[in-house]
Parts: sequence; structure tokens; C-alpha cells
Amino acid sequence: MLSVLFLNPPFLPRFSRPQRSPAVTKSATLYYPLFLAQAAAVAAADGFAVDVCDAPADGLDLAAVTARAQTRRPALAVLDTSTPSIDADIAAAAALRAAVPGLFTVLVGPHASALPGEVLSAVPGAVCAVARREYDLTVLELARVLDSGPATPARLATIDGLSFRDGQGRLRHNPDRPYLDDLGRLPPVAPIYKQFLNIDEYFNPNAKPPMVTLATSRGCPYRCSFCLHPQTLTGRTARYRPIEAVLDEVAWCLDHFPGLRTVFFEDDTLTADRARCREFCAAIVRRGLVFDWTANSRADLPAALLAAMAKAGCRQVCVGFESADETALSAMKKGLSPARMERFRAEAKAVGIRVHGCFLFGLPGDTRASILRTIDFAVKLNPDTAQFYPVMVYPGTEAYEDYRQRGFIEAAAWRDWLTPAGLHTCVVRNETLSPAELVRLCDLARRRFYLRPSFLARRALAAAVSPGELARTTRAAKVFVRHLLAGSGV
Ligand code: SF4
Repeated sequence: MLSVLFLNPPFLPRFSRPQRSPAVTKSATLYYPLFLAQAAAVAAADGFAVDVCDAPADGLDLAAVTARAQTRRPALAVLDTSTPSIDADIAAAAALRAAVPGLFTVLVGPHASALPGEVLSAVPGAVCAVARREYDLTVLELARVLDSGPATPARLATIDGLSFRDGQGRLRHNPDRPYLDDLGRLPPVAPIYKQFLNIDEYFNPNAKPPMVTLATSRGCPYRCSFCLHPQTLTGRTARYRPIEAVLDEVAWCLDHFPGLRTVFFEDDTLTADRARCREFCAAIVRRGLVFDWTANSRADLPAALLAAMAKAGCRQVCVGFESADETALSAMKKGLSPARMERFRAEAKAVGIRVHGCFLFGLPGDTRASILRTIDFAVKLNPDTAQFYPVMVYPGTEAYEDYRQRGFIEAAAWRDWLTPAGLHTCVVRNETLSPAELVRLCDLARRRFYLRPSFLARRALAAAVSPGELARTTRAAKVFVRHLLAGSGV
């Protein structure tokens, strides 16, 4: 059977493409290529020979990646994409096609999914097809089609979720592929990590390293207008893996990754279905699995569920508080109130779950005064760690369309979504605030939050009593403190 290359393409060193807001991060975070590796697991389970290459994690440039492809000679290359890297992603597809005669390139991921026509048209001959939205089975069917005959338009037209150009050069967008209801059909992703990735390269300050990223579900029923993955990849209905299959995979990871310290459950929102989350926690305890875990959560969990999560090993949750301003919260359809967030923070603290809080500036209706109130709120809320960013809007999201229609996007090219060094920058303004003002307010928020004597004392104490905490803090702080003190230079 033919060989398939799954490539997280080269771009900037340690560019974290798979995260919801792709960038080179100030905290040295690097996400696992979870979706790409999962699609590779599906293809491998069907008998295809797969190669998984995470170029930013392995420090590979385009020459190294094409040399690897020339050696292994895949017939199909699946390349992940993001908005800021899309030109480099397409250039990688072009280079691979030049290096490997007959190679079929298919681009996947949020940006390609949102703008398949643009991606197919950017560089003639570089991109053969785009697999939109959730792409595991689309890529599998494509591999089967290529394995059994030529890639004629008539044969490609049978693959739901695929966009391509037909024999006359016309864009063809096949019907959307329905989301996979039964995630139990997905094979475990961890063996792919073991075979192809160096887990020490992946880092998240919210999870003690070494860590692995798994998912127990896909999709989120909430409707936050800016949120990328449910609108471009995973959908707005939560779908679940069988709990026992997830825990089998956790047990496999504990056996096969010596010294593993944390599992990061990178579901859109692990806690979206509270009854299922309770069941998940109970199953961990019942099986006697002892491991620390982190998850994305909503900031509105009942105290009893937080207690069950803590008992099952949850050490940290990442939550979007976003704003203290009711108008901004309502504009983004967050469905949370500041009072509820405060209660959540207190109840998480009471059961010993650390909270990483995210705050967004520049939402419609946000003013300098409302953002200063949000900064006060963040300090009062006092999550264990926090991030402050201008709202990042990406194609495929409601927020992007809204800002585009109002003329609020101030960027000439996709690359402008990042600074030259790859850090987040601001591409939007709103009614009253310019991009530069939003960046300055984010800098102010970070300094106010992180340079508080009480915060510094707390981190110093935590590092003093735990060597692991010291290592993790040092790794994140090496990059972060430099940015904190320097600001963003605007
Ligand atoms: S609750 Fe979280 S995952 Fe769900 S749409 Fe909102 S930000 Fe996205």
C-alpha cells in the first residue's frame, strides 16, 4: 500500500501551529500535532505506511523535510496549516511536489478548511486538494483512492469533505463530510507519538513535563464567536470517545513513556457534558489510574464536579474568563458572568485545582476603561497563571466575519497575524481602540498581574518546595520574563 507523509510543516523555530491561536509563544509552549497524528493513526490502522514529521518540534527546515521525503518517497503528503503560516505551508507543498515526482499534496487544518479556494489557487500546482473540517476519514478515503488508481476528477469527486480543481481547472468543493459520531472508531494516537515524536520537545506551562496530549472528545456546544477549532475543525456538537478506550490509552502512555508526569486532555471543553465528566472521573478512580491531568474547562462548574475532578487527578484547568465587561461577554456569546467566574475560581482553589485564566482585549464594545476594569478583575480573581491577548480573529470564525464586515481588521497579509519573530500581535481595532493601544494594554495587564509581590512570592514558594515546579517555572520564565520586561515595543 502507498506511503503517506503527515507533515507539520517548517515555519519559524518552535512555531506552535496546532494551538488555537498559532504562534511562537512567550512561554515556550509547543503543542502536539494531535489532529495530524490522529489522522496518521487512522491511515496506519488501515494498513498504509505512514511517516509523521513535526518540523517545528524537531528543528527541521524545508531542505531537511524535502530530503526526508525524497528518501521515503510518499505518494501522498498531508500538510497542516494555520493562518499566519499559510504562505509557508503552501510553499512546503510546492517544494515537496518538486522533490517527489507524482506526489499528491492535500492541505488540512483550520486555515485551509476555511479558505479552500484561496489555498488551492495561491501557487499553481502546489496544492492538489484540501480536506476540509475533521479530516481523518477524508484523508483515509483519499489514500484509498490514490492506492487503487489515478487521481481523476471523477474519482476525487467521490470523497466527501474534499476540495480540488477539476480537469478544466475549475474549483470543486465536494459536500461536507458529516462529523464522525462514533469517536470509538478512532485508534489511539499515543503509539504514533511514540514512534515518530520526541515527547520532551512538547511543553505547556500548565502541565508538568514530560506530558502527552490526548483527547476524550471533539467539538463544543458553546458558541464563543472567536473560538477557532469548533468552527473550522471539530464542530459545535460534542462527540465522545468511549471512556474505557481513553483510559486504556492513558494506561498505555504510563507504560510506554517512562517518567510521564501529565496528560493534557486537549478536548475543546472536557467539561461540556458534566455528567460524562463525572463518569470519566469516577472511571479513573475505579481503575486505580494515578496520574496528573490538565484540561480545558468552562468557568462555571459545580463545586461537586470540581471535587470529583481533583480526586481523579486533575491538577489544573485552562479556562476562558475573557472579560469583566458584561457587554463584551455578551457580544462574544460567552454565556458567563463575572460573578459566576469568581465563584468558580474560589471553588477550584478550595479543592486544589490550579486555574490558568485567559483574557481577551478588543472585543466589540471594549473601551480603555472596560479593559482596565478587566485587568482589575483578573488581579482580584487571581488565577494561578493568566494570559492577556488582543482578540485574535481567524478565517472561518464568526468573529473574523464580524470584524471584517465592520472594517476592523488591520492587516495586509496572513503573515501579519504574527510579528516577524512569530509572536502574537494585534490585527484588529474596535470602535475606540487601535491595534497598538490593545497591545499596550496587554503589556500593562501582564506587568500588573505578574509583577505583583504576592504573585512572585507564591511562585518562589512553589518552586522552593517542588523541584518539578522549579524546572517548569524556569523553562517558561526564561522566555516570558524577557517579554514581560521589554513589553511589545509599541
Ligand atoms: S466554551 Fe471554550 S471551546 Fe467552547 S466555544 Fe467557547 S472558547 Fe471554544
